[in-house]
Amino acid sequence: MPISFYEARQRILDHVPLLDMEKVPLLDAAGRALGQDIVADQALPIFNNSAMDGYAVRTEDCTLGSSLPVVGQLIAGGKPHDTIQPATAVRIMTGAALPQGADSVIPFENCREEDSAITITQTVKKGDHIRWAGEDVRPGDKLISAGTLLRPSEISILASLRHATLNVRRRARVAILATGDELQDINELYFEGGIINSNSWALSAAVKELGAIPVILGIARDNLSDLRTKIREGLQADALITSAGVSAGDRDLVREVLREFDTQELFWKINIKPGHPTAFGLCQNKPVFSLPGNPVSTLLTFEEFVRPALLQMMGHRTVLRPLLKATLTESLKKKPGRLQIMRVALSFDQQGELQVASAGDQNTGIVRTSLHAQGIALLAEERDFFVAGEKIDVHLLGPSTALGY
Ligand code: AMP
Ligand code: MG
Repeated sequence: MPISFYEARQRILDHVPLLDMEKVPLLDAAGRALGQDIVADQALPIFNNSAMDGYAVRTEDCTLGSSLPVVGQLIAGGKPHDTIQPATAVRIMTGAALPQGADSVIPFENCREEDSAITITQTVKKGDHIRWAGEDVRPGDKLISAGTLLRPSEISILASLRHATLNVRRRARVAILATGDELQDINELYFEGGIINSNSWALSAAVKELGAIPVILGIARDNLSDLRTKIREGLQADALITSAGVSAGDRDLVREVLREFDTQELFWKINIKPGHPTAFGLCQNKPVFSLPGNPVSTLLTFEEFVRPALLQMMGHRTVLRPLLKATLTESLKKKPGRLQIMRVALSFDQQGELQVASAGDQNTGIVRTSLHAQGIALLAEERDFFVAGEKIDVHLLGPSTALGY
């Protein structure tokens, strides 16, 4: 019995192992999931400093019309000035440490210096144009939790806190095996009846996109001995993805060979279209994804089932892409009975609302439709018709976004 889309995904996520941690230089951590919680061990900013080029003053001295002699100059990175004397001003540059006792900065553009003194012509409020120590981050603040995707913003604050290295989960090494007697390598002289192996390339690109490492095993022919050799090699990696040879055809031997290796098959067949014959199992505690061979099915099942699994293995907290509501600009028909993974085109209407339509012919033979798809709609099993104007759930495709995945 095929299991449901959601059950299949849950079963996978319930079974994939978590990879080990490693310590890497800060930049190597970018784009990966943080392995440890980060608690600030210092304040940011570290010291009170000026947010503008101007004059540091004591606010109480700044009654309108008063004149303050300019008694010194502070540049960013310079030694901190002594305590400011009452009724004086100190020239100060952005980022320079505020003198003791000063509690506001008057920007150059708000006053004029004449004969080494400034005249107060605008109201000055305590704290104007000052960055107080600790106003951004206080020691002890819980800043970033384990599992967070490290974007440039996270790297920025981690650098300020002087984390030259970070603990992250290892990148998964993912073996990719194409299977089929008809398959040809990209550079080979064409033979009649040959189908170019595009899946190894597509899957490798997809694996790389999420920060894992593809290990291309090449093509296994549809015979037991070739499959055994290549699958054994694939089991050296952290996970194995096979494509094709997993249906019920005469030469569909992938599952048989996996059984020989004592794979615990956790399901075969999902109630979806495309991607129906997808299988998943654990072999020597390593996840093995057997995807259908049709290039459209291969990538769609990777997206929905393998991608979340690999992200989870690599310690990411958010592994499923968020669902967005989009309004259908056309009606959609499907056969009831299976959940349809539909390739969809997304756009915005004049109010900026998200709109969705089919990206084109959904026949799995038409790979080209994927070129026009920015997202995926998951159309419920029991439904057969979706009316224009209806809101449906979609998720984006492609590299991860600030929204998560
Ligand atoms: P199968 O699952 O073995 O029945 O394959 C389904 C379809 O996908 C067949 O038309 C295959 O030729 C095609 N196919 C299988 N593997 C690949 C591959 N690596 N690259 C491109 N097409 C493939
Ligand atoms: Mg085949």
